[in-house]
Amino acid sequence: MGQSITFHKADQLKKKPDAGQLGFGKYFTDYMFEMDYTLEKGWHDPKIVPYGPISLDPAATIFHYGQEVFEGLKAYRAEDGRILLFRPNKNMERMNQSCARLNIPKIDEKFVVKAIKKLVAVEQDWIPNQPGQSLYIRPFIIGTDAALGVHPSSMYKLLIILSPVGSYFGNSMSPVKIYVEDEYVRAVKGGVGFAKTSGNYAASLKAQTKSEELGFDQVLWLDGVEHKYIEEVGSMNIFFKIDDEVWTPALNGSILPGVTRNSVIALLKHWGITVKEKRISVKKLFKKAEKQQLKEVFGTGTAAVISPVGFLKWEDHVIKVANGETGKLSKKLYDTLTGIQTGKQKDELGWTEEVKVEKEKVTE
Ligand SMILES: *Cc1c(COP(=O)(O)O)cnc(C)c1O
Repeated sequence: MGQSITFHKADQLKKKPDAGQLGFGKYFTDYMFEMDYTLEKGWHDPKIVPYGPISLDPAATIFHYGQEVFEGLKAYRAEDGRILLFRPNKNMERMNQSCARLNIPKIDEKFVVKAIKKLVAVEQDWIPNQPGQSLYIRPFIIGTDAALGVHPSSMYKLLIILSPVGSYFGNSMSPVKIYVEDEYVRAVKGGVGFAKTSGNYAASLKAQTKSEELGFDQVLWLDGVEHKYIEEVGSMNIFFKIDDEVWTPALNGSILPGVTRNSVIALLKHWGITVKEKRISVKKLFKKAEKQQLKEVFGTGTAAVISPVGFLKWEDHVIKVANGETGKLSKKLYDTLTGIQTGKQKDELGWTEEVKVEKEKVTE
């Protein structure tokens, strides 16, 4: 593609939010990245523009048939001032896998990583630097054709927005309570479960609300056909420490292939721990717990990094995991991953990429 990214200066910059009140995805920075696609021109006109509403035709594909894909990654401010991204190429690779499934034209992965770097460089003052804080990066693509016929859009818009976010846990990691959903399903093999696309979330909201009403934090999804096998949790992949091994559901087409999941598996193997990616029935899991073999449960995802699970309910059965506390391995994984992401720990696996502000300078 090799196009140059233009910069359109904002008249006024926003007041930054209090570092203590960031939460997740509530505040947005001064600028966003935008790029368009048409059949004639392909992806074109990449630009960094003031953050704000976009105008779309009410007949746009996205509104009626949900043709969309998104990604989520973070920029971290290291103690020495460097700005680090964590495996951004993995997110772009996945974005293209999602695009392929949703019939959206492929992006130039390297170019979009470059766009992310430029935007983050422009917005570097928005990167919070307290423990657990970061600048969340949300690239997404929407179909923008004004046509109600059901077919893939011929026009698309790729946007990247940024949001300073707080620590998912506040000061300490507190284990979450999980409800094993046995009625609703998130995805089935052959569908779009492996793609990061909005429809999966729309389909999950009902069950999420139900679990909250019952006093739980998140839903654990079972497979869509037999309602027997464990898939994933809300917006996280799931891991179980069974005696000295770690088990996680194998990627089967309906599970989202998390970058954090991939990184956790690599770290565990690096530490000499046996990891088994396999089909895990919920019945077997609860049996393991009965026999005191289930030592830890944790979810993995960009937002929380590692989220310990303290409590699981399935039909009439309940499990309290690790006495409702954060297990040792969960804590070690959290400390190591966040250590690498923020440049505190040696990045032995070569996962971080620095954003060099000077190099990424954009011109008006
Ligand atoms: C994004 C996401 C995850 C986690 O993926 P990461 O790349 O680790 O952030 C897991 N499940 C679902 C459904 C997701 O959308």
